[in-house]
Amino acid sequence: MDEGNNEVRIAVGAATDAGGRDGNEDAVLIAEIPPVARGAEIADAGTLMALADGMGGHQRGEVASKLAIETVQAALVSNPHTDMALLLKQAFREANRTIFRNGREAGDGAMMGTTLVVAATRGKYVTIANVGDSRAYLVRANRLTQITQDHSLVAEQVSQGTLTQQEARESPHRNIVTHALGQREKLDQKMPNIFELTLLPEDRLLLCSDGFYDVVEDDDFVSVLLRNDPDSAARRLVELANERGTTDNVSAVVAEVTPVRVLEPVLAGAGADRGGLGTYLVPALVLLGAVVFIALVILALALLG
Ligand code: CA
Repeated sequence: MDEGNNEVRIAVGAATDAGGRDGNEDAVLIAEIPPVARGAEIADAGTLMALADGMGGHQRGEVASKLAIETVQAALVSNPHTDMALLLKQAFREANRTIFRNGREAGDGAMMGTTLVVAATRGKYVTIANVGDSRAYLVRANRLTQITQDHSLVAEQVSQGTLTQQEARESPHRNIVTHALGQREKLDQKMPNIFELTLLPEDRLLLCSDGFYDVVEDDDFVSVLLRNDPDSAARRLVELANERGTTDNVSAVVAEVTPVRVLEPVLAGAGADRGGLGTYLVPALVLLGAVVFIALVILALALLG
């Protein structure tokens, strides 16, 4: 799917798979964000990308991730306004409430939760929001940057300096999240984390679940992102995680930023010296006309003679 706008074009693709599990509790979404033109509020159209990794027994994780995705879609598509960061904060709070209530109504044994990472573009601007340990990455000028910080036990230990990155990757506790949607009645005041960026042509964005980054190394996924269109890249990344033996569900959402090609205006008279079709077409028509004229003259002379 392509979303045109004033300066850049965003092409997107997504893939999700049960991976090493029986059911898939991940959910992904790609949708268009309509433009805003209401009084003083004016904003470009954009693209919504979201990924949620649900948790909870008896398929409750599946319900939680689906509710999160649906809530964000409803908030950004049905009632858009220009302040994307505010829209996302409200949407994350709404999703938290909805999932918490749904879990409580289903009984004590049915508590559930989900991570949620969202990237929402408007023109060349993107706002990224996250809760939990699903990630957003940026590849710019062949360099990979992890935009989001995991809300996980091991990520906190790494930032405190009590654990190295490598120890975090190998820790049996690496999947314990410290913030998620739907697990408490109110989402922590500091949540979600919000990141705002201006996109450049050739940038790639990747949203992924832990079932992906637990088994695929940074260098491997950068080369897949750079060598494929977003749709093939997303599918290839999920395949790669399966080939590396992920024991979890695996999902990837990929965006590629390309500049919008502006067609040069073709002016009458100005095209003659551009070496285009007109350069050859006009003399050819003149020559054809001359040949027909001479043939008619010869025919006329023959008939008269
Ligand atoms: Ca997971």
